[in-house]
Amino acid sequence: MSNRRSFIRKSSLGALSFLFSKNNFSEWGESKTEIKNKPIVLSTWRHGIAANEVAWKILNSGGNALDAVEAGVSVTESDLTNQTVGLGGLPDRDGFVTLDACIMDHDCRCGSVAFLQHIEHPIQVARKVMDQSPHVMLAGEGAYQFALKNGFSRSNAEVPTDKSKKRYLEWLKESKYKPEANIENHDTIGMIALDENGKISGACTTSGLAFKMHGRVGDSPIIGAGLYVDGEVGAAVATGVGEMVMRIAGTHTVVELMRNGASPQEACEETIRRIIRKHSEIKNKQVGLLALNTKGEYGAYGLTSGFTYSLYNKDGNRVLDSRFAVG
Ligand code: ASP
Repeated sequence: MSNRRSFIRKSSLGALSFLFSKNNFSEWGESKTEIKNKPIVLSTWRHGIAANEVAWKILNSGGNALDAVEAGVSVTESDLTNQTVGLGGLPDRDGFVTLDACIMDHDCRCGSVAFLQHIEHPIQVARKVMDQSPHVMLAGEGAYQFALKNGFSRSNAEVPTDKSKKRYLEWLKESKYKPEANIENHDTIGMIALDENGKISGACTTSGLAFKMHGRVGDSPIIGAGLYVDGEVGAAVATGVGEMVMRIAGTHTVVELMRNGASPQEACEETIRRIIRKHSEIKNKQVGLLALNTKGEYGAYGLTSGFTYSLYNKDGNRVLDSRFAVG
């Protein structure tokens, strides 16, 4: 009890000293610290380059981060040669391409779809769920019907695509399920961005792990696992083996660590260490985390080597290698 009382006392004192700190009040003649590192957009993997281009155009012309991340990842969703995002994705073990996506803004407004089929832009449906429905997440047939009612149409693309069908038929010969790390041209696109006005948002979209069980949903559409954003702190997005991320609510963990004072890089590293502590088997598995705070500082960390990310800021658009925990 006394501990609780002393905690409340300390917290109240903390809150009061925060409220009365000069820096918090522009009315007192102090202008707020100018954030120099904005706008900025970060996205997972090399395929983020094309997505960043579109997001940057919006950010650089004064557009908001939410529109930028939605438009950015839509580029990757439309690319039928991409076998890990959108309708070009590899199917589940029964031959169905099922898509997961979510989006979130600085006010913790969010929308998500899971196990969605035949729709080109799951991220745009997720945005509609956020803007037009009283819910956060819709799945399966319900998400599909919601999409149709909200102006989306069933894609004419033949799915799986020929390219994905070929890989599926190869896989069927042995039907072995092993989530591989760092396969070429792969993985979820997760994007986080900070706009000119200091507002931060994120988006995440995927066809999920190749040859997953039918009905499997990964971390990507789960708020707090694949993506988390809080405008008071920052944003984080994840890629890799979703089950490992979900077990520790990975991106929520990153954001909460930043809230408690960690830099984006430290927060990603500590979260990966937590994943390692909670899993006895990490061989051949990958998890990649990206984080961005409201000052425009960013961080990236992989469970193992090979996690790349794309960064666009005033210095241009480029692919970078993240640091990693296990060689
Ligand atoms: N995280 C995604 C999932 O588990 C897959 C990935 O990023 O590669 O569905």
